[in-house]
Amino acid sequence: MAEKMLQFVTRPQEMPDKRPAAERAQDFGEIYRGFALQRAEEQASRCSQCGIPFCSVHCPLGNNIPDWLKLTAENRLQDAYLMSSATNTFPEICGRICPQDRLCEGNCVIERGFESVTIGAVERFITENAFENGWVTPNLPQAERDRSVGIVGAGPAGLACAERLRARGYQVAVYDRYDRIGGLLSYGIPSFKLEKHVVERRGALLQEQGVVFHLNTEIGDAEGQTSLSELRARHDAVFLATGVYRARTAPMPGAGLRGIAPALDYLTASNRRSYGDVVPAFEDGTLDAKGKAVVVIGGGDTAMDCVRTAVRQGAKSVTCLYRRDRANMPGSMQEVSNAEDEGVVFHWLGVPEAFLGDDRVSAVRARRMKLGMPDATGRQTVEPEPGPGLVIEADMVIEALGFEPEHLPELWAQPDLVTTPWGTIKIARDSFMTSLPGVFAGGDIVRGASLVVWAIRDGRDAADAIDAWVGAPESEMTLAAE
Ligand SMILES: Cc1cc2nc3c(=O)[nH]c(=O)nc-3n(C[C@H](O)[C@H](O)[C@H](O)COP(=O)(O)OP(=O)(O)OC[C@H]3O[C@@H](n4cnc5c(N)ncnc54)[C@H](O)[C@@H]3O)c2cc1C
Ligand code: SF4
Repeated sequence: MAEKMLQFVTRPQEMPDKRPAAERAQDFGEIYRGFALQRAEEQASRCSQCGIPFCSVHCPLGNNIPDWLKLTAENRLQDAYLMSSATNTFPEICGRICPQDRLCEGNCVIERGFESVTIGAVERFITENAFENGWVTPNLPQAERDRSVGIVGAGPAGLACAERLRARGYQVAVYDRYDRIGGLLSYGIPSFKLEKHVVERRGALLQEQGVVFHLNTEIGDAEGQTSLSELRARHDAVFLATGVYRARTAPMPGAGLRGIAPALDYLTASNRRSYGDVVPAFEDGTLDAKGKAVVVIGGGDTAMDCVRTAVRQGAKSVTCLYRRDRANMPGSMQEVSNAEDEGVVFHWLGVPEAFLGDDRVSAVRARRMKLGMPDATGRQTVEPEPGPGLVIEADMVIEALGFEPEHLPELWAQPDLVTTPWGTIKIARDSFMTSLPGVFAGGDIVRGASLVVWAIRDGRDAADAIDAWVGAPESEMTLAAE
């Protein structure tokens, strides 16, 4: 069957069809259509089956990519699904939203001369095809165990950990302050990248598997909340996967004017609307971009999600203000191109200096910048350009400047929970254990704002560590130290 592979020499790269910009800007449906069977097989057959698969090396989950590409090319689709799902708890989600250009596909060997294999699209196809054929079933435990694990946070890290522990028979309870599972998969990432039924489908499987969800349950020290100490008494181990939610803001004249919103408030309102929820701050226009001149500040993926959401809400104009240039944007280039196609205007090399307006914001004043010397990380610094700045009309400003962790030791009255200088929870890397015995952590609350695929990896690895510790709590497992 080897002759099926190495087709990259004659067969060009084809991405899944993308809906035309004018059509997709009218709704929140995903913009990429899935591969049909023949196209998936053809594209998988482009893999060169190289000796050292750099795609796998650069996939945070170490997916066996060349193997499942070969199985797909050979039409052994159930085997491809079994292999793909052996290393990834949510392959259909990663296939949709991993920044493949920075991970697997960006390191595909045939990229040097030919375009990479469309790994993400094939991964998505394999799992969607498996769902259609009824091959995706809950990973039921072979035997029940009387040990229980409490997981705080139903984002990808918490869910991946829950799935793996439940499959080993643990009694798993997941606590989340939100009313739905998914974390940022549900309330951060817009539906045009990840439709909500994809997350809900996984939630249903986890429930069938026997994972118990306690939603609308905030863990903390305030009145009416469940404390971490209570959870530690209730469960044999606890996994913290609470993500990072404190928005960075731009402290400058005019901050606090009406019409300025943090990115996640804006995206959460829009995502809730996708679920059909009534959102008062949207209904009264505060978080609705319809008919407004919108300025989004920032250049990461969150900023791209905001500009593209504003387009879909019917904004009068959408402008992205970013302090570096296109080549130096932290966001995925594919997302920038999608935003450009949808009519977003980019002001590169502009730093906001003030929000203008009396009671409501009416404009953003920005200073023009130029690129300077690379810093220690190799990234070019920016320095102010002499001369007049620019003023951009704005009825609504969305700040997408990144996220910091909430300070959990204080919020949770847990002074012994050690954090890093950045406020993330410190763990011992070999055991995923925090400074509190039996309390583990992973995902964004340990890494800082990162990626879904890394959260899944942490959840899976932490599950292994918890399993080992619960089995032998007296063993010499490392705690995070000051
Ligand atoms: C707008 C946006 C777009 C993104 N787009 C992408 C993308 O395209 N691709 C990608 O790979 N990554 C993307 N990311 C990053 C990705 O979403 C995160 O890295 C990932 O979700 C982190 O997973 P997590 O499980 O650690 O945390 P989260 O997904 O943040 O989940 C944490 C959960 O913990 C709950 N929680 C927090 N505190 C408490 C508490 N005290 N009590 C109870 N529950 C609590 C929260 O309600 C939440 O449900 C994006 C992020 C944002 C903000
Ligand atoms: S999980 Fe992400 S990085 Fe890994 S193969 Fe899939 S799309 Fe690529």
